Amino acid sequence: MEKIVILGAGIAGISAAYHLKKAGISSVIYEQDDDYGGLCRSFQIAGFTFDTFAHISFDPDTVEWLENTTEYYVHAPEALNFDNGRWLRHPVQNNLIDLPVEERIGLIKGFIERKSAQGVCNYARWLESTYGDAFAHTYPFRYTRKYWTVEPEKLETRWVKGRMYEPSLEEVLRGAMSSQTQGVHYSREARYPKHGGFQNFLAFMAKECDIVYQKKVCRIDSLEKKVFFQDGSNTAYDCLISTLPINEVCTFLSDVPPEVMQAADRLDHTSGVMVSLGFNRPKVSPALWYYIYDEDIWPARIYSPDWKSPNNVPEGCSAIQAEIYFSKYKPLMRSPDAILENVIEQLLKLKLFSRDDIIVKDVRMRKYANIMFTPAIYSDRETVHAFLRDRNIQYAGRFGEWDYLWAGQSLLSGKRAAEQMTRRKGN
Ligand SMILES: Cc1cc2nc3c(=O)[nH]c(=O)nc-3n(C[C@H](O)[C@H](O)[C@H](O)COP(=O)(O)OP(=O)(O)OC[C@H]3O[C@@H](n4cnc5c(N)ncnc54)[C@H](O)[C@@H]3O)c2cc1C
Repeated sequence: MEKIVILGAGIAGISAAYHLKKAGISSVIYEQDDDYGGLCRSFQIAGFTFDTFAHISFDPDTVEWLENTTEYYVHAPEALNFDNGRWLRHPVQNNLIDLPVEERIGLIKGFIERKSAQGVCNYARWLESTYGDAFAHTYPFRYTRKYWTVEPEKLETRWVKGRMYEPSLEEVLRGAMSSQTQGVHYSREARYPKHGGFQNFLAFMAKECDIVYQKKVCRIDSLEKKVFFQDGSNTAYDCLISTLPINEVCTFLSDVPPEVMQAADRLDHTSGVMVSLGFNRPKVSPALWYYIYDEDIWPARIYSPDWKSPNNVPEGCSAIQAEIYFSKYKPLMRSPDAILENVIEQLLKLKLFSRDDIIVKDVRMRKYANIMFTPAIYSDRETVHAFLRDRNIQYAGRFGEWDYLWAGQSLLSGKRAAEQMTRRKGN
């Protein structure tokens, strides 16, 4: 019987194995961590449950499966913004009434005078032509530096569609004169498991999978069809699906043409640090999640585990997790302890908690967070993908497809990889 090997037990790898099994085909997943989930993994500390970054489900394509498998809460996707001591409703461009009159006038003037965004490919110019210069430079430019870790000039715009709200003049004016604005989040609802954190959405698939943990891939011999692990062991395969970052997969292979290696090197991404705090009192947070614009406060975004599910915290407690992004363009050269202490000090400025409220503190890092959409991404990604196809390595998931995929889309990416393999095997 042919051996199918899947690399990575994130939602894409698990989905691939699950869908292969549904088609009657067995496979083995190799994962570097000691649990499944990847970016969808949750972790427990002293009765608190935290996720790996904000995770909540927005994706209508996967809701049917999730409904059938896991009990969940439904939330309105309502967020807040924090800027210079002020709380503003989200998105700011639709809620200018929260600002003083003079600021409102400046932002509306800029909006009216904006140029057309038609044909604009640079993200900085797109922000200016969509929101006006004043708004663009006051809000999204600053947030871009924190979330994407680069100046908006460095990014292109194909990823933007549907992710950034583009208001009409009427909406801007209405939001500047009334606080009765409609929610405009790209999804009408957000879903989250009642128990076990976001990871629990994956449990129904994971229990069908054969996963070997603590196996960090360090080399792939695509001629001999063998995967080698850092612990010195190896496994043979007949068919290989990889959900690992494609730039790293290139470094695992031999005889990679220089132009492929150069393209892989140019594929930029951000990394992320999570600072998780548990408090000995309820409802510290004012919202399910919020964005922070102040550049002297490192976290770009905070979410509230107890808003997602009350079961994420012990009785009478609450929690937050702050996300800090960095990259080769904006390194974060501090020890984990120094990051933790700096971030706690910075978050005190939000006046949500005092040091005495903190009963749990934790810091952890993920090397791969978001794909960075620089102008060269599309041709470089295709160069690497073509090379992997040539080596008979099927790729899937956020870092296999090297795309801005939500969890549900990564699940579907793993499903597609399984279907392709099933078709190839003639099942
Ligand atoms: C900050 C942030 C917030 C997000 N919020 C949401 C949200 O609210 N809602 C939503 O739907 N989606 C969200 N997403 C997107 C979602 O996390 C991803 O689409 C999805 O988790 C990607 O799954 P994956 O399996 O493709 O990749 P991963 O989760 O990265 O899985 C890859 C797996 O491969 C393993 N691996 C890597 N290298 C090796 C190696 N050398 N050897 C062995 N194993 C290896 C990893 O440990 C990991 O388990 C968010 C992402 C980020 C970064």
